[in-house]
This record gives sequence, C-alpha cells and structure tokens, in this order.
Amino acid sequence: MSHSVLVINCGSSSIKFAIVPAANNLAPTQTRRSGLAENLGTPDAVLKLINEQGEKKTIALPNADHQTALTHILNELGNEPPIAIGHRVVHGGEKFTQAVQIDDQVLAAIRETTPLAPLHNPANLLGIEATLELFADLPQVAVFDTAFHQTMPPQAFRYALPEELYRQHSIRRYGFHGSSHAYVTHHVDKLLGSTNHGWLSAHLGNGCSTCAVWQGKSLDTSMGLTPLEGLVMGTRSGTVDPSLHVHLVRTLGWSIDEIDQILNKKSGLLGLSGISNDMRTLTELAKEDHAGATLAIEVFCYRLAQSLAAMSCALPEFTGIIFTGGIGENSAEIRARTLALLPHFGLHIDETKNQKMIRGAEGRIDYDDDSGRQIWVIPTDEEGQIALETRSVLGL
Ligand code: AMP
Repeated sequence: MSHSVLVINCGSSSIKFAIVPAANNLAPTQTRRSGLAENLGTPDAVLKLINEQGEKKTIALPNADHQTALTHILNELGNEPPIAIGHRVVHGGEKFTQAVQIDDQVLAAIRETTPLAPLHNPANLLGIEATLELFADLPQVAVFDTAFHQTMPPQAFRYALPEELYRQHSIRRYGFHGSSHAYVTHHVDKLLGSTNHGWLSAHLGNGCSTCAVWQGKSLDTSMGLTPLEGLVMGTRSGTVDPSLHVHLVRTLGWSIDEIDQILNKKSGLLGLSGISNDMRTLTELAKEDHAGATLAIEVFCYRLAQSLAAMSCALPEFTGIIFTGGIGENSAEIRARTLALLPHFGLHIDETKNQKMIRGAEGRIDYDDDSGRQIWVIPTDEEGQIALETRSVLGL
C-alpha cells in the first residue's frame, strides 16, 4: 500500500489528477506523478501523464468517457493504489464549511448546490460518481473551493440586496481559490512558527483573487457569488458596474448568455490587450510598446492594488502580503508594479530578491530587517492542500 492520496479535479470534458505521497516532500529534481485527461467524450480524447522523474507519456483514448479515463489513470498506478481519493469541488454553498467524507447525503447536498455553480458542480459530481463506482472500497473526500471562506463575517459576505435573496436564494459572497489561499497562508505561518498574523494573499493565475487571512482564517476575499467578481483575470472581466448587463441588453440587444460569455471568456487581460490572456506574452509585448498589452498590465496591477487595499480593512493587524499563482510566483515586474501603488502599506521590496523569485522558488522579498512588513512569494500547492485535508478528514 502506497499511503498516497489521489487528488482529482474533474471538469466537464477533462480530469486533472495528482498522486500526493504521505510525506509530500519530493526531492528538488522530482515532480509529482500527475496527469490530465482532456477532450473526453470526443475522438480526440487523450491522457497525458508525467512521472516523478519528469518523464512524459501521452495515451490516445478515442471517445473515452470519465470512467474509462479514470480506469486508465488507476492502471498507471499499477500495484501502488492510493489509500484515499480527494476531490476538488468548486462550490459547497453555506452547507460545507470544511472538507467531508463523501456519502449519499453529501452527494445529495453537492447536487443541491448546483444552482450556485451550474457549470462546475455537475462536472465535479461526474468525477465523484465515476470514482465511487470504480473504487467502491476507497474512502473519498470532497474538498470545496468555497469552504475556507466560510469564516467571513456577514459584513464581508452579504451583498446590499433585499434579505430574501440571501435567505431564500443563498445569494451572498462565497469566494473561491480556498485551497490556494489556505495553503500559502498556513505555509508561511508554519515557517514563522505562529498563526498570529494578518496576511493579504494574492492568487494570480488564469483566475485571480485576493484574500485577507487573520490567525489562519479567511475574513474577506475578492471573488463573490461566482468566480467572476473582483480582479482582472486572464479572460474574466472581474468586477464591472452591476448595471452593465441591463445596459448591453437595452443598447445592443445581447442575450444574457452572450454577455456571460463575453465577461467570462473574452474580457480581462485578453479583452483589454486585444491579443492575449497570457501575462508572459503581454509582458514581452509591453517591452515593445504594444499599447494594448501595456494598458492590460496597468489595469491589472491597479485593480490588484485596489483590491489589496480594500482587503486590508478586514485585518485587525497587517503582517504582510503573499504572492502566488503563475503570475504571482513568476512575475517580478507585476509584484513590483503592484507594490509601488501601495506606498502607504509600509512594504519595502528588495528588488534583488524579487528578481530571483521565479520557477518554484519560495521566500521573502522584503529586506527582512524589521523595517517594514513582510512580502512573500510562495508557490501554491492546491493538490497538496486537498490531500492534506483528505487525510485529516479520514484521520489518516
Ligand atoms: P496559472 O493559472 O497559475 O498556471 O497561471 C497562469 C498565468 O501565469 C499565465 O497568465 C502565465 O502567463 C503566467 N505566468 C507564468 N509564468 C510567468 C512569467 N514568468 N511571467 C509572467 N507571467 C507568467
């Protein structure tokens, strides 16, 4: 028995997985055994795998469904089956304040939460149902993106809307990226040997959110009822005037579905730059004075700084900022530009350290001399956090 946890993140036509060993401490030269099945249900279905040595393998699985792909994934694990499975579930509503072992009641409750995440939760359920059938003997745990933020107080989670919309229709702010914000803030607390800190965490990937964490608990976060609220993201607009939908319906005759598509898939960095949703590409283009790329970066950093300033209202004390996600971990430029917009925060960035913090490095990028607050870069580990919570729920 391997004592590893299989972490599964199931989309409507894809399955991401990772094997997290008990110690979860790979050597620097090793990668985690992981993979991605994509285009499921189509002739182009394929399973891409990577092992601990970083060796890659691609298996064509024409027309494979989720069950077939999961069977192949388990075959790949050979005689080292996992001891448990941890599923990423996007929305747990108010029902789930922490990870839970999956049983019939939990499945029913996740199903009831579907109206809050009509695209994501059905896909997550598909993965859970397929694994329950295939691996009936393995304990399975649901880990929710929203659960970490269930400690937010009403002043942070309520919208200024009629109360019945909250009471009868569950309309409130939930927040997402919980596993990432939990992982990076708890990780720094562990490094410092205490939870007595107030962090602003910035998860900057394709999706982006900020979070205020005090003594290990989320007190506010920038995403809301859905992952569209808040920061400028790769293709998502983030916060816009709530009357925008009405305006577009009235003036352009667009349907709600068209507007939804535009705000989720064609906005953000892509919409602003007119060329790419990828921060690396935009950074390169901005060096050549591409006007759209320059504007996209300026708006991205300004809105991020604004959000961090807003989040700081939630903290009784402010210890510092933690950057994570593909952009947060790798872009010294975005970190420096954003911090330059927050001179009143008392953060003193050490540009030499900032420049060195790329490709999986972790550490402080301030002067570390008690003259200012702390600035950290921590590579996120959502799979590691899901495996940790899976073990904790099962007492493993
Ligand atoms: P993620 O969703 O966490 O994988 O993050 C994806 C984002 O990280 C994309 O916008 C990438 O362009 C961005 N990213 C990755 N490496 C870099 C880098 N060296 N500089 C700027 N952005 C980067």
